[in-house]
Amino acid sequence: MKSSAHLLTSKLPKLPESIFSTMSNLAKEHDAINISQGFPNFETDPALIQLVAKAMKDGYNQYAPLGGIYPLREVIAQKIELLYGAKYHPQSEITVTVGATQAIFSTISAFVWPNDEVIVLKPAYDCYEPAIVANGGIPVPIQLSGKDYQIDWDEFKKHLNHKTRMVIINTPHNPSGRVFSSTDMSSLQSCLKDTNIILLSDEVYEHIVFDGNTHESASKYPDLASRSFVCASFGKTFHATGWKMGYCAAPAELMKEFQKIHEFNVFCVNHPFQRALAEYLKQPSHYLELGPFFQEKRDLFLTAIKNSRFKFTPSQGTYFQLLDYSEITDESDLAFAQRLVKEFGISCIPISVFNKDLLDNKQIRICFAKTTETLIKAAEIITSI
Ligand code: PMP
Ligand code: GLN
Repeated sequence: MKSSAHLLTSKLPKLPESIFSTMSNLAKEHDAINISQGFPNFETDPALIQLVAKAMKDGYNQYAPLGGIYPLREVIAQKIELLYGAKYHPQSEITVTVGATQAIFSTISAFVWPNDEVIVLKPAYDCYEPAIVANGGIPVPIQLSGKDYQIDWDEFKKHLNHKTRMVIINTPHNPSGRVFSSTDMSSLQSCLKDTNIILLSDEVYEHIVFDGNTHESASKYPDLASRSFVCASFGKTFHATGWKMGYCAAPAELMKEFQKIHEFNVFCVNHPFQRALAEYLKQPSHYLELGPFFQEKRDLFLTAIKNSRFKFTPSQGTYFQLLDYSEITDESDLAFAQRLVKEFGISCIPISVFNKDLLDNKQIRICFAKTTETLIKAAEIITSI
């Protein structure tokens, strides 16, 4: 075909290939164990799959309402109230989305104007900054400090000014596995008090929290909740990342604005999956059991690598674990991760790509949402390095 390069003025000229695609492709090419990209290698509950099939057979195959079917929004609102004590109106304050990714993109698109500043805590999951830039906004990265990624809230406050339109947080945090404490959330609440800043709280790992820690949702903190979009993912919660189902919750006035973008972005999300999730969510054990389920996997993996040369602090939440390889080599994390695939047959994620200015802390991220067999095989390799 004739070149169309002269038609291009890219909105995202500096965007590299996603590290998740790079490492997963490399894993395939070298037939390596893939503990890089965050997805389970076991099946979702067959009962949930049956509910989807039933919904299709029952004829729920046409458009759903714009914000999602009422029974699903109702059970989401009940779940939020049960867990965080916050009341959201199912009709006006909950929207079902195409995964958390679309909730995040549409929130940014609805509220960020050209030249608005958006605070992003680094290391950050990769979908925030491109969405900010594509909408004309300016990402303001703040690096979390140390290898355990703590936040200095006094330092954070210094970055807020009249141009700050939004702050994005993620707890439990990908990639560090850190869970924000109630002190963190209270500090954030006082930093944002009396401002017009919107909070985008990415809580896709809300149910995956370990060792008696609690998930501190923004919805638990009234002044935060009144300015927040809380984003969630059924893909993460029900081991079905390929379904791309999620939702967000926000006060009615903000949600109305969000839905103007949502309407012309997707209009509505696929119907039979919504029917199935509405049924499945009625049983709280389906999400309450997730923490202990993944804690067992984390512990199995960490016990199996305890004699390795990697250093680690057990992850507080998410299904990710950071491993510090500084006693093994001083290679860059990118070079090390590539070598692990090619020489050792194991693929993981280098952390520098999520950090401010590609800061290299000599850490890699592994995903332990894997079968026992995969975790043991992976641990054997890691112990041999
Ligand atoms: N936020 C974080 C922190 C994630 O790790 C992911 C990856 N699943 C997402 C958002 C996107 O979620 P979804 O797959 O539901 O779009
Ligand atoms: N959230 C997943 C992770 O952190 C990846 C999702 C993706 O591939 N974009 O690994």
